[in-house]
Amino acid sequence: MMIRAVTSPVPPSCDGRGEDGVGGKRSRTNKKDHPLNGFEELGLSTPLLDALEASGYENPTPVQAQAIPPVLEGRDLIATAATGTGKTAAFVLPLLERLAAARAAGGRRVRPGTARILVLTPTRELAGQITDAVRRYGRHISPRTAVIVGGQKMGPQFAALRGGLDILVATPGRLIDHIERGSCRLDETQVLVLDEADQMLDLGFLPPIRRIAALLAEERQTLLFSATMPKAIRRLAGELLTQPAEVTIGEARSPAEAIEQRLVRMPQAEKRSYLVDLLKAEKAPRAIVFTRTKRGAERLHRQLERAGCRSAAIHGDKNQSQRQRALDAFRRGRVEILVATDVAARGIDVRDVTHVVNFDLPQTAESYVHRIGRTARAGKTGIAITLCDASESGLLSDIERLIGVHLSADGSTRPFEGGRESKGRGKGQAYGRGRRPRRQGRPARRRAA
Ligand code: AMP
Repeated sequence: MMIRAVTSPVPPSCDGRGEDGVGGKRSRTNKKDHPLNGFEELGLSTPLLDALEASGYENPTPVQAQAIPPVLEGRDLIATAATGTGKTAAFVLPLLERLAAARAAGGRRVRPGTARILVLTPTRELAGQITDAVRRYGRHISPRTAVIVGGQKMGPQFAALRGGLDILVATPGRLIDHIERGSCRLDETQVLVLDEADQMLDLGFLPPIRRIAALLAEERQTLLFSATMPKAIRRLAGELLTQPAEVTIGEARSPAEAIEQRLVRMPQAEKRSYLVDLLKAEKAPRAIVFTRTKRGAERLHRQLERAGCRSAAIHGDKNQSQRQRALDAFRRGRVEILVATDVAARGIDVRDVTHVVNFDLPQTAESYVHRIGRTARAGKTGIAITLCDASESGLLSDIERLIGVHLSADGSTRPFEGGRESKGRGKGQAYGRGRRPRRQGRPARRRAA
């Protein structure tokens, strides 16, 4: 596909620093027939359309189609969509559009130590990915952007904040650190985005979120994105949002339809050799294997390496550059398996992950939805395999209750009937002892519940 010539909406007299902000009416400049007319019809103009074309996008995803118009209008928004459905572009694109329009309208510079738009995310990795998306989609708009996360040197962060920012992407802890040191003020921030809001609450970020929200401009736009919508998120939305538009893509609580979910019951002691056989039986797998603990992740990574499976580990005991190296090795295909704990893996967007394996069940049912959402991204299919030992039956019931179906070994599902499953199964009947994974072809679509 040809990349078209760029027409910037920013007049030469206004170098992108001078405006009052992103609020106010949007100017519909550069209206013309663009090959990406699905995005154009949503109200995006040429600099963004060209960037999307260069990214190889052709049409908006459902969450983009529904979220972009209200965000462009300046409305608050609460959006529920499974991970991997294009949520990032659903808020980044309209905010960039409004930024460009506000620049074109002229105004004053963003002040040192302030940011017009604040995006809060639960993890450093997700913050990095959102910043990459801002730079990619905003390549013809050149927003002043910085990522402020823990585990990195303060010096460059002070410098970025001193310049004043259009878009600040941050994790709550490090942002509060800057606020306390006086290097960041939020009183001129007109847009707050809470991404993966349910994960932020799981990680105990509710108090920092409240504290940060209280420092923002009173007249502001707030966008809340979440893969699941537990009551706590509804409450938070009630506190922070005003008459929000609501967007729900698919069933709010069920994982993406494109994921085949299998359950294999087996004793803990058999999981490792089952996993090795499974990975070896697959042709060119790209698998993320989740463990409950950091030590468990490290141990399993070493065991997989010894068994001849190329892997990398990502968990909270690794520093930022180690995590980044592991992620890069996985992303570039130098290793086929990423062993991860929940905290480290949240929001990771790696294309073409074929399998998610729950080596241990997650402590919360919502985490299951997030874990398996690492596969079947951007229109692909994927397989999620959960290895469950007898002591994990209670956690399994919580998951099945949340997603509304019982899982099974062959990937078929049937509606969840309620009540906790008996924990006292007889060994022979409960576990697929001695069963070995078969070589898999293309994953089948999940059968209807
Ligand atoms: P997200 O849910 O934001 O993590 O996005 C998941 C993946 O979908 C990312 O790799 C995006 O680059 C990709 N993506 C987002 N929007 C589109 C689109 N409209 N067309 C094709 N791919 C997209």
